[in-house]
Amino acid sequence: MRPSSSSYTCRRCLQVLGNARAGSQTSFLASRLALRRRTISTKNGAGLNGSEQLGVRPARKAMEKRMVSSEARPLLMPNNLFHPFSESPSPEIRRRAAFIKQNAFCPHPDHRQSRLPMNPEDPEARKSSEGGLAPAHVSFECPDCGIPVSCSEDHWADDYESHLEICDTLREINEDDHDLRSGRFFPEFDYPEMQMEEAMINMTNWDTFLYTRDFRAIDDERSLRQATRLLTYPVTIGSVLHELSPYTIKQKGRLTVEGLKSLSALRYSLHPPRDGAGSGIKGLRPTPPPMRIFILGARAESSLPREVWIQLTHLFPRVAFHLVFVGPESMANRDAEFPLPERTPSNPYGAIVEGRITSSLKISTFVEYYHTLHKAGHFHPYDPYFDCFMLFHPGLGHPASSHEWQETIPQLLETKVPILVTGYTQYDMERDIEWVKKTVGGEMDMLMEPGENRFRSLRWDLNDLDPQDISCGNWGVWGFRGKRYETTRKDAEE
Ligand SMILES: [Zn+2]
Ligand SMILES: [Zn+2]
Repeated sequence: MRPSSSSYTCRRCLQVLGNARAGSQTSFLASRLALRRRTISTKNGAGLNGSEQLGVRPARKAMEKRMVSSEARPLLMPNNLFHPFSESPSPEIRRRAAFIKQNAFCPHPDHRQSRLPMNPEDPEARKSSEGGLAPAHVSFECPDCGIPVSCSEDHWADDYESHLEICDTLREINEDDHDLRSGRFFPEFDYPEMQMEEAMINMTNWDTFLYTRDFRAIDDERSLRQATRLLTYPVTIGSVLHELSPYTIKQKGRLTVEGLKSLSALRYSLHPPRDGAGSGIKGLRPTPPPMRIFILGARAESSLPREVWIQLTHLFPRVAFHLVFVGPESMANRDAEFPLPERTPSNPYGAIVEGRITSSLKISTFVEYYHTLHKAGHFHPYDPYFDCFMLFHPGLGHPASSHEWQETIPQLLETKVPILVTGYTQYDMERDIEWVKKTVGGEMDMLMEPGENRFRSLRWDLNDLDPQDISCGNWGVWGFRGKRYETTRKDAEE
């Protein structure tokens, strides 16, 4: 639902497809993980251009195929993960270096602004809007982090102090990206089965969570970063909804009174008492409807390996889930893998339904704007006991994407169903909140105060359009819903 650099998606998905055919499950997962953050460009033309992509595909496909076969074998050892991007053993990373050099601008304050600064901390704010040197693309790779960050060695050296603030993180990104393509064995993508009912999950942080969920010991920082990058999606949802959630009504617990009301309703359904159901006639019980989680503006998260989403259901062993991915980009460039079905009277929106992934998980994907489906009453009726909206980095307040949410947000408020939202950075999150408040004003109740997400991705990502801009998946989380008015009877008031 927001602009993105679709050339990545295309390249990424082709690689995924190639690996799925050629490689093992592990390398398949690893390549899935190689998905980059959705980059939001301020420039025109970097947005959705599906048709343009189609034209280049056949030639690229052949190229990708060759690349995949050469990347399938281990090419990097753990002590040899650092490579300047342009000299990387991975052709994909070399191409990325070329892309950065073609698109990103030198942050040195002697240059003129190439765009409006996004916020006061944006390095672009140090430049003057007129005069100075013309904007120049980056071409010099910092020897310490290996990322193209300046137009020349002079500018890099001159502005070294400000680069130093992010150099270590950039180096970590460099090594993590090479690690993913190293072809090593990835035990961190081996997921545990159903939780034993007697064993409590501790959701204080990633360590306690992974330990109590019986994950294979992940004692290496890098493996932890790679693992959390995928798990952040299901676990962020689970950590808010679960009765053992670390977000509480206590002081500084971030949950509001309205939040507690809404979550209590959901938890009533998510943690039902044992009902004595069994396989025999005696054990027959009416099954409650599945918990519906609508993931709007879905993009990368809709193509996560299903094992990752199954982890959500393992946190709530007694209920079934129906995940509904909605958004024009929810199948972006995956048409070769999942051809979109025809739109027929019985399936008017061409939903892709993955029926029983497990006995407690079903996934449907709608390549469509949510507001269209809402207007058609497609998911109606909504039930605050069984429904929840999830918006992963929606960019509600981002100048390039907020217009796409304009129609959707009032509809979400109307349902009175909780809406959970994440952001890439504090700034990204606060901009979203400000936009919502400005757009719908008093019509919303805050359910959860904004703050850092305990289950954010520990891996940092780089915006290829601007290497100064680093962020991580689901950095922050907050929640709101449509304002509920207490009903009062007229005669009672008198
Ligand atoms: Zn420069
Ligand atoms: Zn550096």
